[in-house]
Amino acid sequence: MFDRNNDRGGFAPRAMIKGNWKCSECGVEITELPFEPAPDRPIYCRECWSKKRPPRFSR
Ligand SMILES: [Zn+2]
Repeated sequence: MFDRNNDRGGFAPRAMIKGNWKCSECGVEITELPFEPAPDRPIYCRECWSKKRPPRFSR
């Protein structure tokens, strides 16, 4: 039943996790995330997330 040939590392590509969170930065509601959020970490919306991350990785 399982297509093992398609399983690379266990993460499904582009699977959105649905839920109910709030952005730790601006407080906006988040209903889906491209990854599974860690319960002990702040969750950011897409905008704040991109602000938090440097636009380019120099390393
Ligand atoms: Zn935000």
